[in-house]
Amino acid sequence: TAQRIDGKAVATQVTEAVRLAVAERLSAGKRAPAIAFILVGDDPASASYVRGKKRACEQTGVRALSVELPADIAEDALLAVIDRLNADAAVDGILLQLPLPAHLPPQPLLERIDPAKDVDGLHPYNVGRLACRMPLSRPCTPRGVMTLLAAYGIDPTGRKAVVVGASNLVGRPQALELMLARATVTVCHRATLDLADEVARADILVVAAGEPNLIKGAWIKPGATVIDVGINRLADGSLCGDVEFEAASQRAAFITPVPGGVGPMTIASLMQNILEAAERRDPA
Ligand code: NAD
Repeated sequence: TAQRIDGKAVATQVTEAVRLAVAERLSAGKRAPAIAFILVGDDPASASYVRGKKRACEQTGVRALSVELPADIAEDALLAVIDRLNADAAVDGILLQLPLPAHLPPQPLLERIDPAKDVDGLHPYNVGRLACRMPLSRPCTPRGVMTLLAAYGIDPTGRKAVVVGASNLVGRPQALELMLARATVTVCHRATLDLADEVARADILVVAAGEPNLIKGAWIKPGATVIDVGINRLADGSLCGDVEFEAASQRAAFITPVPGGVGPMTIASLMQNILEAAERRDPA
């Protein structure tokens, strides 16, 4: 049965490394990295994500600023908030918490963030840097997946990697990360004709679809590494991923649980991104 990949433990190690680097900055007379969280409206899930990210800031010594805005804010007003934070020399990173209310299309807002302060790595400039093998700010969840693979000694070089899900947030940048790590990459999505057949070829499988039990245990190639990014809340309130965990564990060599797998890594990657953004802006 598969070895469980402990995302909580790896995330703690990453966060601790960031804490030490922030402390070193302070003893060298530099300021703490600072991140501004923009939260629009009162979506409870978004508020809880921002709370989790702020807790990580407290643990690492990153300074967290909060900009809380009403759900009915006009696009112009939100653009002006982003412009002000872009111009603020004391702010190293800007995070616009998604999803936004329906009247605010996210893309023009994400593109307004100074790419140097885009700690989510979602600005097309940063996605483009990753696509042409010169990553700067890397999207947090796919970066977290790569950190997990490295922590368990799983080298993607020459392996067949299959990504299920092609979103801007996870699937697409995940495929770029795996290509950068020299895997042979296939990306599956809703229009994929034979998902079972694609999944069965994967030495490394990363699933980010958002559908419970989409991936059957019987599809998993024996000895594969299974990374389940999905987070689904069931009717009884419990969380599960996109992979049939028990059945997949019988075939895989490594597997991430949900919760406790990829989830904690996303915030850990954000802490790395904010530290690196501050270091790039203020290297000396
Ligand atoms: P999304 O809805 O934007 O994209 C889902 C992708 O999966 C799409 O490309 C779609 O084509 C594909 N897909 C959906 N159903 C499919 C099916 N039946 N067959 C094949 N492909 C299918 O979602 P997202 O933002 O990429 O998030 C995906 C999942 O990952 C969600 O469960 C989300 O909660 C989770 N997530 C977790 C973290 C984390 O661990 N921190 C971060 C982001 C997202």
